[in-house]
Amino acid sequence: MKIKSASFVISNSDVSKCPKDRIPEYAFIGRSNVGKSSLINMLTNQNKLAKTSGRPGKTQLINHFKINDSWFLVDLPGYGYARVSKTIKKTFQGFIKKYFLQREQLICTFVLVDCRHEPQKVDLEFMEFLGENGIPFCLVFTKSDKLKLSELNRNIQQYSKKMTNTLWEEMPPYFVTSATSSDGKEELLKYIEEINNR
Ligand code: GDP
Repeated sequence: MKIKSASFVISNSDVSKCPKDRIPEYAFIGRSNVGKSSLINMLTNQNKLAKTSGRPGKTQLINHFKINDSWFLVDLPGYGYARVSKTIKKTFQGFIKKYFLQREQLICTFVLVDCRHEPQKVDLEFMEFLGENGIPFCLVFTKSDKLKLSELNRNIQQYSKKMTNTLWEEMPPYFVTSATSSDGKEELLKYIEEINNR
């Protein structure tokens, strides 16, 4: 898919205030610092659409971006960071959960994980929440430029093993991406395009 336009629509913490347009929606989420903003900017050919930040936990709202006037890309708050108070964490969990449970336009969620790290409890728990609620998701391994291909493949295999040893019969669809080299960009956009064309 070619990105012809990408524009910010609205930020909020209340799912009932999200845009009413009945167009397909794709959410991006992951632990803080996983490279979510960089990935979103890479996918949409923008420098600053999503705000990258050295300070974890800065994007604390549901951010809607309209792409090609035909679908929404949603940038969700990062989860699982340490520097935010418990009260704020609870509020996040509240409105993020509501978003997933109530947003009918949501087609697929991309769960970002750093390809260098072992499966983390918070990510696995989040995927479990999605699974339990029948919310389709894909895994996105970020920062692939940081590993040699052999290390990358080994880590993905470990991930797959961990998932299939626990709750899952198989790995969900997954993408290997790098915001630095644009690896995985075509594949991920093609996946969205194919669903949109169904
Ligand atoms: P976010 O908190 O998940 O939105 O993460 P950011 O996009 O702000 O990225 C966090 C840090 O990781 C920044 O220092 C980025 O420059 C770096 N980063 C993000 N994606 C990549 C990538 O694909 N490759 C490399 N080498 N660094 C990345």
